[in-house]
Amino acid sequence: MRAVDLIAKKRDGLALSAAEIDFLVQGFTRGEIPDYQISAWLMAVLLRGMDRQETTDLTLAMARSGEILDLSAIAPVVVDKHSTGGVGDKTTLVVAPLVAAAGLPVGKMSGRGLGFSGGTLDKLESIAGYNANLSKQQFLQQLAEHGIVVAGQSADLAPADGKLYALRDVTATVESLPLIASSVMSKKIAAGANAIVLDVKVGRGAFMKTLDDALALAQTMVDIGRGVGRRVTAVISDMSQPLGNAVGNALEVAEAIATLQGRGPADFMELCLTVGAQMLLLAGKAVRNSKFEIRNSTEGRALLLVKLLSGAALDKFGEWLAVQGGDWEVVEHPELLPRASVVEPLLARRGGYVAGLDAATVGLTVVALGGGRAKKGDPIDHAVGVVLHRKVGDAVQPGEPLLTIHANDPARLAEARERLLAAYAWSDAPVPKPTLIHKIVRESGISDQGIRNSPLA
Ligand code: URA
Repeated sequence: MRAVDLIAKKRDGLALSAAEIDFLVQGFTRGEIPDYQISAWLMAVLLRGMDRQETTDLTLAMARSGEILDLSAIAPVVVDKHSTGGVGDKTTLVVAPLVAAAGLPVGKMSGRGLGFSGGTLDKLESIAGYNANLSKQQFLQQLAEHGIVVAGQSADLAPADGKLYALRDVTATVESLPLIASSVMSKKIAAGANAIVLDVKVGRGAFMKTLDDALALAQTMVDIGRGVGRRVTAVISDMSQPLGNAVGNALEVAEAIATLQGRGPADFMELCLTVGAQMLLLAGKAVRNSKFEIRNSTEGRALLLVKLLSGAALDKFGEWLAVQGGDWEVVEHPELLPRASVVEPLLARRGGYVAGLDAATVGLTVVALGGGRAKKGDPIDHAVGVVLHRKVGDAVQPGEPLLTIHANDPARLAEARERLLAAYAWSDAPVPKPTLIHKIVRESGISDQGIRNSPLA
């Protein structure tokens, strides 16, 4: 086989076989097929698409590019979550310790920023010392001993995804359903969790712009999971405006800590409870652990609230940071996080109601401030970003602060001001707040009342 022939085949709109996809993925992972050929192939996939079989074959090839963990010796059920990426999405930082504090082991492999969307690893690395590069042994040991681990792709686990992800980020090949589905699911399969909750984002600050596209992505990933014996639920959540108030790596860590202290923004808190409750439910905790007796997501939320309000989730967060080498003192002292040299409010030039707040523009502005990458391997500035004070539905008086910009470069700051003002749309009449949770897509046989025919029952 030759890579050039397979690029041409996809360019011409034909489906590749499992063997052909495997040839490209393993060749690229081993460094035998160069970036420029894989870039061309990725663009052909973006333009021509992939059918269900190709998407599944690509997922499995990527998962097999490294080891596939078997976690059965650690716990009967290990749960994982993943977001398809959005702006201000720091959900993992709250949900992982929350669910782990409820007694369910969380083993997660995360990614870096991609396009306008932030990445959990970049956020975590704004905490001094945090080590996301764990070997398989370290991943397993931490999961067994602490019930929580969040690491990046390593040479051991789904290395193809790490390489492809970095290339897609800088070749405008992110917004492709088969590439997103295979990227997410290969990591999830390799990391070994048997229950996976996906947060599929939809809207201007998401890779899926319409509810139909988000539903198609969600269903594809639920189906891939079922095909390999993993339980998958997908929550489709709104990303027309940023999630929560903070956008930017260290600022988002600070907001996650505030949320674990019970002081988080309402929309972010709501999403964390929704995703967390689905994780508890999907893991079949109700049938496995009579102590909690969770029979539906409402009971799951109640348990998570107890863990939040008692401080148990915050303690778990500190334990997790400490064991991965991070400075856990940020929990008590968020001012230890990287801080920008200029912190400046952006004032409203008019009054009225906020009718729109373009999440993609906010995300790209934070990237331009230095909070994301322009090309593969670029360093990022963890300190920069924005904190929003007015979001969709809020009433604003002229001259009130719309948001605060955190910057380290005067030229970039000036540019950010104009872009951010343009991100707001206005109305003279009141505007409703956007719906946060659009839909929950489940494997058939799983309902909000738990899992029928659960192997654990
Ligand atoms: N998240 C991923 O893990 N991969 C993508 O391609 C997009 C979002």
